[in-house]
Amino acid sequence: MRIILIGPPGVGKGTQGALLGSRKGVHTLSSGEIFRREIEAQTDLGRLAQRYISHGELVPNGVTIEMMAKRLREPEVRKTGFILDGFPRTVKQADALQEILADLEMPLQRVFSLVAPDELIVGRLSGRMGCTKCGAIYHSINKPPTREGYCDVCNSPIVVRSDDQPETIRERLRVFRENTAPVIEFYAGLGILSKVDATRDAEEVYKDIVSVTS
Ligand code: AMP
Repeated sequence: MRIILIGPPGVGKGTQGALLGSRKGVHTLSSGEIFRREIEAQTDLGRLAQRYISHGELVPNGVTIEMMAKRLREPEVRKTGFILDGFPRTVKQADALQEILADLEMPLQRVFSLVAPDELIVGRLSGRMGCTKCGAIYHSINKPPTREGYCDVCNSPIVVRSDDQPETIRERLRVFRENTAPVIEFYAGLGILSKVDATRDAEEVYKDIVSVTS
């Protein structure tokens, strides 16, 4: 499988990436998740990324492309293929990705644009919580963990992301419209785009994606 999940923050890319990754045995590469791990490990890249992420802005293209290229070249990713979640987010990143994949002889199969109205997205993001270890996603109302504050999957603490605050959410939606909406057009132009109604239950969305890829 070699696909991209694209869409505004909170539309369900992370949830679908995790479902597809675990059920299909494919590596899910989430640029946001990789940045968060770098921040936690206090690396130079993490410190740089933090400055942008905390304001809801995009991390510069150069370091983002380099980081994702490194992951895509790893032998285990080349073996299973990939699900990209959160990358590319600019046309420059999409161009670079085309070159990287041509070089690896791993052409994209399909790009899924997950679509939902802003009100729904803001509601989802406002109660969102994530596991600090395995990245599993919860929601205070729609999907609370069985034991408050702890992950059902690995029992590690779950937290609210610092960029899931109302001000930052609005900025992330603006950044999506300005920088990432053109990326969707880019893939439509290549004839490999599928639009998916992401207002539905995660399992329904999953079925749609799988029916197109298998
Ligand atoms: P996400 O977990 O995908 O919502 O990403 C969280 C934050 O990480 C974003 O708001 C950006 O600041 C940064 N980020 C993630 N992916 C990218 C990317 N492809 N390009 C630039 N910044 C990114």
